[in-house]
Amino acid sequence: MYQLSDRINNMSTSQTLAMAAKTRELKAEGKDVIGLSLGEPDFNTPDFIKDAAIQAINENYNAYTPVDGYVELKDAIINKFKRDNGLTYDRSQIVVSTGAKQSLANVAMVMLNPGDEVILPCPYWVSYAEIVKLAEGVPVEVPTSVESDFKMTPQQLEAAITPKTKMLWYSSPSNPSGMVYSKEELRALADVLVKHPQIIVVSDEIYEHINFVGGHASMAEFEDMYDRVVTVNGVSKAFAMTGWRIGYIGAPAEIARACNKMQGQITSGANCIAQRAVITALEAPVSKIQYMIDRFKSRRKLIIDLMSGIEGFAITEPEGAFYVFPDISYFFGKTINGYEIKDATDFSMFILERALVATVTGDAFGSPNCIRFSYAASEAEIEEAMNRIKNAISEK
Ligand code: PMP
Ligand code: GLU
Repeated sequence: MYQLSDRINNMSTSQTLAMAAKTRELKAEGKDVIGLSLGEPDFNTPDFIKDAAIQAINENYNAYTPVDGYVELKDAIINKFKRDNGLTYDRSQIVVSTGAKQSLANVAMVMLNPGDEVILPCPYWVSYAEIVKLAEGVPVEVPTSVESDFKMTPQQLEAAITPKTKMLWYSSPSNPSGMVYSKEELRALADVLVKHPQIIVVSDEIYEHINFVGGHASMAEFEDMYDRVVTVNGVSKAFAMTGWRIGYIGAPAEIARACNKMQGQITSGANCIAQRAVITALEAPVSKIQYMIDRFKSRRKLIIDLMSGIEGFAITEPEGAFYVFPDISYFFGKTINGYEIKDATDFSMFILERALVATVTGDAFGSPNCIRFSYAASEAEIEEAMNRIKNAISEK
């Protein structure tokens, strides 16, 4: 009845959020669904961060903040970049936003003209392609697979570059594959990029601390790349603060200024109380959140051990984040107990209906042979989910 814009009509719904909504719906109907679809820590925000927010309310932090964030927060971010990543930024290079998702959207909006190409190694995080399209850019998918540990090679990158390539976006540790690029691997990609100085890189490091192999590397560490990298980060994952909605970038000053201008017209900046709380979060030593990282590590082992025993699941061990991304193409073309499985979306729906386990189809991440499991869930839920799946697929 209403004539909505082509912009919204052409946009796909976020599959991660759609599956989360479906899980909530089924639970409300009384179904015992295990939600392994949403990438959201199942911990509470640590008390020392909550206390900082309460204090901020009592101290009457209630007015608009600077559009690009409180100066004290920018300074905490600058110190964090120095401490954890060896990166030097000044205040003019930092922009605080309403989640890393908005940081990414800002960057797309300020960098892309219609038809500009953005290279997205697959699997990529679900919203990258839609954000790029919203900014009238063209996503260029570079496939990787379980055999290549979901890593894009320098040769693949070189082959994907055209005169229209404007940007490269990736996350490491990766959502959804859990892949982590080593410093050497990033250097090899950088060696290609230095030959193409028009390309700006978005390095999404939101899972930085959830890294089980150690040695987080940032593309901006390389002197010859520093001026061409937007480093995106946030507190949703490592600090269990998804709902507080704070993300940030470190970027060349001109790009940061443009993002500031963009959000000045769209949000007026991020929530004041959340910003105050994040100052405390980022100033704390990483040891304060280590207990959550340790739990993710033991859950990773649990889910990998159990999944390895399921017929037809080909897995590469994730090195970071809290996802496993098995290749389940073994099931394509098979019918299990009357349920025909043509593709990953069918398999994900089969698991939802027959095992009551919610996952996300790999199609949403540009990898149609896989499905994503989030193991940010309790050990009991992980065990039960794997059992149910094993049983569901053995019902011939
Ligand atoms: N990047 C990646 C790779 C993510 O998984 C997410 C999901 N939260 C985001 C960005 C967005 O995070 P935020 O909650 O800070 O918007
Ligand atoms: N990033 C999380 C995920 O991939 C949360 C959902 C979202 O932000 O889209 O599941």
